[in-house]
Amino acid sequence: MTLAILSALAQEQEGLLALLQRPRRELRGGREFWRGELHGVPLVLGLSRIGKVAAATTATTLIEAFGVRRMVFTGVAGGLASGVQVGDVVVAKEFVQHDMDASPLFPRYQIPLYDRERFACDADLAQALLSASRAGLKRLGQKEVAVHHGLVASGDRFVSAAGEARALRETLSEAGHPPLAVEMEGAAVAQVCHDYALPFAAVRTISDRADDSAHVDFSQFVSEVASRYAMAILDEFVRKLN
Ligand code: SAH
Repeated sequence: MTLAILSALAQEQEGLLALLQRPRRELRGGREFWRGELHGVPLVLGLSRIGKVAAATTATTLIEAFGVRRMVFTGVAGGLASGVQVGDVVVAKEFVQHDMDASPLFPRYQIPLYDRERFACDADLAQALLSASRAGLKRLGQKEVAVHHGLVASGDRFVSAAGEARALRETLSEAGHPPLAVEMEGAAVAQVCHDYALPFAAVRTISDRADDSAHVDFSQFVSEVASRYAMAILDEFVRKLN
């Protein structure tokens, strides 16, 4: 059962690529994919680039052209809930698209014709990612890093102002969708995996607080910390899959 590991940015994928055994590069749809294996598990690493459309086409390609049967997303996100700080890890339980609004035809946040606002992650894969996160962080000597599990919001905006982050958190919470974090791809991949009945889970390291210093925190963080965390967490995750 081939596993896809998807990331948005090359810096997020660096560590994983270093672990991949027998790596073979393939280009498709202007995207780079790496086939290979890890701990005996056949893998495809995919780089979606940024945003929901890019992520959805990449996820579809992984399913239709590479025949993957389960998918994990790893990357960074902005912390929204008060306890979710830079350096923490968030394993998604569900996803909502914070920029979906077809009201008054459909309720705010509802995905038209799906009759739902949220897409859930596969419970078993998410649990495995939670244990792998704790084990991976321990291996890195980061036992005190908080690992959260809950709702993640996705949308086509890099949220980089404290007022905007607050408004996003409050509006979503009032509608019954209190988010832990915000990013730009997860909900799109969750929707594609829902369409194909494929198990999906996602882990994000918090790179910024989606506030006025988000762009500075973000750049430093991705290569220095997030890539190492992703490498340790996904290594543990894949090892236990076997
Ligand atoms: N500066 C980068 C662009 C980063 S876009 C570049 O030049 O390549 C931000 C990426 O990290 C997206 O893939 C998104 O999923 C995630 N992310 C991290 N912090 C975020 C935030 N505050 N708001 C939205 N997405 C965020």
